[in-house]
Amino acid sequence: MKKISLPVQILGALILGVIVGLVCYFAGLADFTANYLKPFGTIFVNLLKFIVVPVVLFSMIDGILSMDDMKKVGAVGWKTVVYFLCTTAIACVIGLVFANIFDGMGLFPTLTLQEGMTWDKATSANFMDTLVSIFPSNMWEAFHTSNMLQVIVIALFFGGAIMATGEKGKICRDIVISFNEVINHLMEFIISLSPIGVFTMMAWVIATQGAEILGSLALVLLCAYLGYAVHAVLVYSLSARIFVGMSPMRFFRGAFAAMMFAFTSTSSAATLPVSKECAKELDADEDIAAFVLPLGSTINMDGTAIYQCVATVFLASCVGMNLTIGQMVTVVVTATLASIGTAGVSGAGMIMLAMVLTAMGIPVDMIMIIYGVDRLFDMGRTCLNVTGDIACSVCISKWEGGKAKKK
Ligand code: ASP
Repeated sequence: MKKISLPVQILGALILGVIVGLVCYFAGLADFTANYLKPFGTIFVNLLKFIVVPVVLFSMIDGILSMDDMKKVGAVGWKTVVYFLCTTAIACVIGLVFANIFDGMGLFPTLTLQEGMTWDKATSANFMDTLVSIFPSNMWEAFHTSNMLQVIVIALFFGGAIMATGEKGKICRDIVISFNEVINHLMEFIISLSPIGVFTMMAWVIATQGAEILGSLALVLLCAYLGYAVHAVLVYSLSARIFVGMSPMRFFRGAFAAMMFAFTSTSSAATLPVSKECAKELDADEDIAAFVLPLGSTINMDGTAIYQCVATVFLASCVGMNLTIGQMVTVVVTATLASIGTAGVSGAGMIMLAMVLTAMGIPVDMIMIIYGVDRLFDMGRTCLNVTGDIACSVCISKWEGGKAKKK
């Protein structure tokens, strides 16, 4: 029998979860879903929590090490990273603006939550407190308590130190690269279990929160897609127009194939060959595209950043928490870093969402609320991620005017 592909399995699980959830809701069987279905969802979330520290640690160090290679490509490397960071930070701001508009209009709900999913006021902090607390006094404690901001700082220090040590740090470097590969495999395995998580969580969320939660999920999806669309039109069309003098129509027509492939595959990494073709079609320098696109598919995730900001505000609203300006700055910083640490594979952005939530003091278990529809978020965010990589390769090619060719 032909194996059913993961996207189809997830879609089936989603529909089945909605049906079972609705039946249990109307039949008054919410307890059944809480007692017998939710535990499987909890196992899934436990796996996410268990993998998030090693993913953040190794993918960040690995990302820093790849910047070492960037030194070899000189100006192209730095311009690329600056472009990536600026566009991702803008993406976060767009995501937060839309999420706050929706929240301000009362479109995001506050839910009645069960134990373990409530928000502990004491864990929320303002920006200065967060700044002080991100420097760990004990490395193991940071891992033990999944303190994500501290884990990032540890990764930045170690990555920088490995780079500075040079030849003598080679063993450490190889270990990190190898660990990163292993962890990515493990993450893919966990993601392959998604259909079970999607079905059980969808059924439980609907059975306990009522059919109205479907409307809320549709709204948060709409909010993210508005953010994706505005970012594409504003940032990519404008950069194509301003830096390259290319009409937005021409840009999007050239990038269309990769956008569609990304939308259906939900993997920037898998879309790479198509992205390369599109960049060529848009007259990007081949050498520059060969450098920018693979790097972009690992560290440049504007769609993921928008999703993480929107999801954070939505889930904060669900637990009854109002984010202050200081906390929003923290969201921008952590979501930018989280998107850099997100691997270019299906569902990875949701795992890194756990990092943003932890940094904000929102219980990671809240992911269960939106987990069922993550694939729908992922389609749009991957599409945007890939478009951003292509836009960057086109802009940098223009800036460099072909002079980096031989590098
Ligand atoms: N699927 C996305 C990508 O490959 C990553 C994510 O899950 O946000 O770009």
